[in-house]
Amino acid sequence: MGDDSLIIAVDGPAGSGKSTLAKKIANILEIEYIDTGAMYRALTLKVIEAGIHPMHEEEVLKLLNNTTISFKNNHIYLDGIMVDDKIRENIINKKVSDIAKISKVREEMVNIQKELARSNNVIMDGRDIGTVVLPDANFKFFITASVEERARRRYRELIERGERNITYQETLQDIENRDRIDSTRKVSPLLKSSDSYEIDTTDKTIDQSVEEILNIIRGGK
Ligand code: C5P
Repeated sequence: MGDDSLIIAVDGPAGSGKSTLAKKIANILEIEYIDTGAMYRALTLKVIEAGIHPMHEEEVLKLLNNTTISFKNNHIYLDGIMVDDKIRENIINKKVSDIAKISKVREEMVNIQKELARSNNVIMDGRDIGTVVLPDANFKFFITASVEERARRRYRELIERGERNITYQETLQDIENRDRIDSTRKVSPLLKSSDSYEIDTTDKTIDQSVEEILNIIRGGK
């Protein structure tokens, strides 16, 4: 990391609003936005399409060795094909945390993520960014919201995307399940590092949370 580079780490559970906030901040500060969840989602998509069970680690790793995941102009590409929409389907929500808990998968993803931050000013969001991927980030934020509010947001998002066979209750259960797997896995679980600013978005508008984050960043680097 160069002296004048700006590296911002954003972590938090599903539906906390971290991606929305990180994208907005990236636009305002004119820096690169990297969505690390999208990388785990892209691999999950490939695993599902290949008919491999997410718990079959060896098979998943074999597949990973023959997979290219990349970003271009804020779009994500799996083996050269843009998969922005496909990776947001509910089937991916249900399986992604099982893929993301495989330590070799994480090793590989973290290497790519570190590399992406080496040459750019970035805001990167995920679960282990402030703790593992970018421990030397200039600013670290941990975004939270109540589990009910996060489920409401995710449910709204899925309905807007046209998913039909889904209820709020199921979405809530899925989020709770993902929280549990993400927070209790052995390798780099989701946790708030002591040097991060916590932003609770439960009763705030997106603009209010953006303002809160920008005030901290502008307050001093
Ligand atoms: O952020 P998003 O909800 O898209 O992430 C999808 C999943 O990918 C998370 O629930 C988590 O299991 C995994 N993930 C992770 N580490 C990251 C980003 C995402 O384990 N840095």
